[in-house]
Amino acid sequence: MKKKLDYIVTLYKNGYKIRRLKTIFGEDTNYYISLLKHFDVKLCGNKNCPNGRIQSRSNFGKDRSQVDGLKNNCIHCANKVSDNLT
Ligand SMILES: [Zn+2]
Repeated sequence: MKKKLDYIVTLYKNGYKIRRLKTIFGEDTNYYISLLKHFDVKLCGNKNCPNGRIQSRSNFGKDRSQVDGLKNNCIHCANKVSDNLT
């Protein structure tokens, strides 16, 4: 059981989206969300994130419209986007 969890998290860290993991392992979205919460990992949406893509969930701002309740990009990248808009 633990091996399966580690494997899923490893795939996630390698860029597999939850949607893709669902097609491989089944389970529902909440299963993956709680797993990523447990391991405290989230990938920044910016592939060239200067902080490295794999980060603690605490590096992301809240966004209720997202399934995991966090913004796609880390705080650093999210700020950069808003800089570009102004
Ligand atoms: Zn980032």
